[in-house]
Amino acid sequence: MIKFENVSKRYSDGTAAVNSIEFEIMEGEFFVIIGPSGCGKTTTLKMINRLIPLSDGTIFINGKKISEYDIHELRWNIGYVLQQIALFPHMTIEENIAIVPELKQWERTKIKQRTNELLDLVGLDHKTYANRKPNELSGGQQQRVGVIRALAADPEIILMDEPFSALDPISREKLQDDMLDLKKNLKKTTVFVTHDIREALKLADRICIMEEGKVVQIGTPHELITNPVNDFVKDFVGNRYDSWSNDFQLEDLLEPIVEIEDQQVKASMTISMQELVDMLVEHEQVMIERDGTPIGYINRRSMMKYVSSTLLQKGV
Ligand code: ADP
Repeated sequence: MIKFENVSKRYSDGTAAVNSIEFEIMEGEFFVIIGPSGCGKTTTLKMINRLIPLSDGTIFINGKKISEYDIHELRWNIGYVLQQIALFPHMTIEENIAIVPELKQWERTKIKQRTNELLDLVGLDHKTYANRKPNELSGGQQQRVGVIRALAADPEIILMDEPFSALDPISREKLQDDMLDLKKNLKKTTVFVTHDIREALKLADRICIMEEGKVVQIGTPHELITNPVNDFVKDFVGNRYDSWSNDFQLEDLLEPIVEIEDQQVKASMTISMQELVDMLVEHEQVMIERDGTPIGYINRRSMMKYVSSTLLQKGV
């Protein structure tokens, strides 16, 4: 669907941002590009919709070189979400979402139907939000609108550049959950840049790890965890993922909530094993939340149960 063939980018000041990268992103795939700051992620992403011209090599979309597409045709068929999306402040939410459908001259009723459907899809009731102005929404809600604006005209491809990194942890997790739903429902080919390995492991079908303008490894989250090609990948994925076993679900350990104490220590579902162990050294139990809603407790006993069962599995 999107194919990089020997693609390089040197900026005019001589910076070699991307060096001979090659890979293919499949139709409907959620492809996450990750790596340390400055490794060339954004450059790679922006070359796809020709926001940045290539120095060498070729990018194909559906078998056709991107240079051969009409630029408007290309951009309208590629939704784009940035870290801090800029909604037009004087336009309503509905008008903001409708920009590309309007450009494509969709019919009024179709545009209305589409904006309502998308707002509802990400939990923003269209009756309440369609006619609001951007400043009447929270940062997280605005970013949601940014995501659905990119989807509005039904593009084949969505590019997302650290779309949730400016949000507080709870909004961030909510948007990641929305993204998982959208992924299931819409099956768009998505290229998603992040520097957050947990976000990558949560969302990706495949992850592409970059270092200094090169691709180090591409694989499913499971492949990267179980078969890192070198220490760089191992450190990047392994250490941060800690040692939860691969098919382990935090949910399986949860003790039911009987009553909620006032001074309860809380953690989100995406907590790492190491962080949880550290918390349980200090506290008898930790309340686990999903999207800010308590879903159960982990206590020292349940953690011991987990540790002993994994040791048994490993035959220790
Ligand atoms: P990332 O998204 O992984 O942080 P970028 O693609 O933004 O990385 O940048 C890759 C490299 O290219 C970095 O060394 C960065 O400083 C450099 N770079 C990015 N944009 C420009 C530019 N317009 N001119 C010169 N160098 C740039």
